[in-house]
Amino acid sequence: MKINDKILNIPPYISTSWDNITSLFTQNDFLVVILKNGAKIEIPKIQPEMIEEIFKIHSKVLEGKSKPKTSISFGLPSILPSMPTAGLESFTSAMQHNPEQKDAPDIPSDIINKIANIAKLFAEEANMDIPKPVANCNCMHCQISKALQIGMGINPENLDAEVDEKDLKFRDWDIIEEGAHLYRVINPLDEKEHYSVFLKDPIGCTCGKKNCDHIKAVLNS
Ligand SMILES: [Zn+2]
Ligand SMILES: [Zn+2]
Repeated sequence: MKINDKILNIPPYISTSWDNITSLFTQNDFLVVILKNGAKIEIPKIQPEMIEEIFKIHSKVLEGKSKPKTSISFGLPSILPSMPTAGLESFTSAMQHNPEQKDAPDIPSDIINKIANIAKLFAEEANMDIPKPVANCNCMHCQISKALQIGMGINPENLDAEVDEKDLKFRDWDIIEEGAHLYRVINPLDEKEHYSVFLKDPIGCTCGKKNCDHIKAVLNS
């Protein structure tokens, strides 16, 4: 057995380069490998740790290939075929901080808006493990992590330090620019009360109301 970033070799079942492999999944204790030519290879009796390792290597190979420059794909399309069984794991492993993409284009604010709102919905029952964005990084992982944190009301630490205490006394709301068209609006008297405001179509606020004070506060700032 030989498995690295070039080949998948599990005798006597398969020996091929990753280039020939479309997707992987597990089914009834079999590791199933789908080849580009449509062939389906079922491999029995592989240790769970080994399967985990194979998935890890596969997602690394995929990430190495799909370096999106112009389009934002989150690497999802290539992973989708294996989603039903190996879904979340593949997804989260694709969702990793990637320093090479630290200057990636901003995710459109309406998508960030949606992510933040979805996160907000989950915030109450959240035992969710929120990935931490890396400072000054704009890779997909970090942008999405940031949006999740905003939505769930977790303070990205590095931003808190920038609040000047003197400003707090003269303003109804404290406003921090979080990204393109994205602002965090905080009640200076109660840090726990905060909202995310998006100033691009569609203008919105995580409080859910239209034309709320938070949006006005940002517009007037
Ligand atoms: Zn990152
Ligand atoms: Zn609002």
